[in-house]
Amino acid sequence: MQFEDSLAFAKNLDRQDSLAHMREAFHIPQIKNSDQDEIYFCGNSLGLQPKLTSKYLSDELTKWQTLGVKGHFDCKYPWMPYHEFLAEESANLVGAKPSEVVCMNSLTANLHFLMVSFYRPTTKKFKVLIEDHAFPSDHYAVESQVKFHDFDPDEAMVLLKPRDGEECLHLEDILNTIEKHADELALIMLPGVQYYTGQVFDMKAITTTAQKHNITVGFDLAHATGNIEMELHKWGVDFAAWCTYKYLNSGPGSVAGCFIHEKHHNNPDLPRFSGWWGHDKATRFKMENQFIPIQSAEGWQLSNPPILSLAAIRASLDTIKQAGGINTLRKKSKRLTAYVRFLLQKRLANHIEIITPDEELSGSQLSICIASVKDGKQVFDAIEAAGVTCDWREPNVIRVAPVPLYNSFSDCFHFVDILEASL
Ligand SMILES: *Cc1c(COP(=O)(O)O)cnc(C)c1O
Repeated sequence: MQFEDSLAFAKNLDRQDSLAHMREAFHIPQIKNSDQDEIYFCGNSLGLQPKLTSKYLSDELTKWQTLGVKGHFDCKYPWMPYHEFLAEESANLVGAKPSEVVCMNSLTANLHFLMVSFYRPTTKKFKVLIEDHAFPSDHYAVESQVKFHDFDPDEAMVLLKPRDGEECLHLEDILNTIEKHADELALIMLPGVQYYTGQVFDMKAITTTAQKHNITVGFDLAHATGNIEMELHKWGVDFAAWCTYKYLNSGPGSVAGCFIHEKHHNNPDLPRFSGWWGHDKATRFKMENQFIPIQSAEGWQLSNPPILSLAAIRASLDTIKQAGGINTLRKKSKRLTAYVRFLLQKRLANHIEIITPDEELSGSQLSICIASVKDGKQVFDAIEAAGVTCDWREPNVIRVAPVPLYNSFSDCFHFVDILEASL
């Protein structure tokens, strides 16, 4: 589509936008001391609150007030199987079967628990492939697992580095590194979408190459779930985990999600750290000592889950469903992000560099390097003061994520206006 650099054009895109009404389904923060909406471009860090959330939370509080422990059973959305109400919509987001996903724990905790099952090093095949600039928590998790198995992280962690002077990784380099270390790699742990650059990884190609060499593949989907389309089941990915407070709008620190491919569900040889909520539902309350895992992703659960947090996830999943699901969101997302890119390139090409790769290799987020000024943080502070919420990453990057559920093309236009003025 041919974009134009004018507010009238942006407003026209908003009028044609079949998702424009979804903004009404969210609480939009207001600029301080005004009744004007912020330009909220931070849904990649903390998604906004759906209006359904307080209703769903309040329903659970009422149940607790009026039913006490009986809220587990005879009522609408009983707590006992509550996590099951999230499975279908979660599965749709990542391209899985409902039996392959479960909401539990937090993201980093899930990475650990999944590595207990899926990082099975031997003396020959013990290495883990991870990015050099992985999100710190992922690095710490892998490093500590490696040490837990008595390997030396310097030897056991293969770190993927971008080419000199570049920020993003080339697929070719990723696949070559896998081939090069194929005999020694036990596990590949990469993001679906990179948190700093916004780069989308070719999960299908990575998985296919890994499987040729019998290497287990797990993805951290913190920045991918609710942002891009995926087919985890078809691609044969072994496991994945994501948080639900970024593009999934389920509130700060909300319970995370994970995916375990069905090919692993019935494997009695897989070790796991178990808890009673992973035990066969039919006999869980016999309270016997012999652990019988549920033959699905649910078998990895440990505890009865925090219902208030799951209620917030359900509100968010229902909101996404109302919007038409991930394919519909992704269509608008591509256009929103392309519009910001168009405006930035047209007006600010001499001042900034967009480090996020083009089109198919990006999701909502654009990472903008403020190349022309010494102190990019000042620019960031200025746009924030002018009503833009986005985030700052050292040394010189502003990350913006126009989110299809609640951002408009006018938001994009105003953002670029404000950035231009601040430069
Ligand atoms: C957001 C994010 C995390 C955060 O982990 P928590 O366990 O939820 O605190 C971890 N890894 C990546 C890649 C992230 O983007």
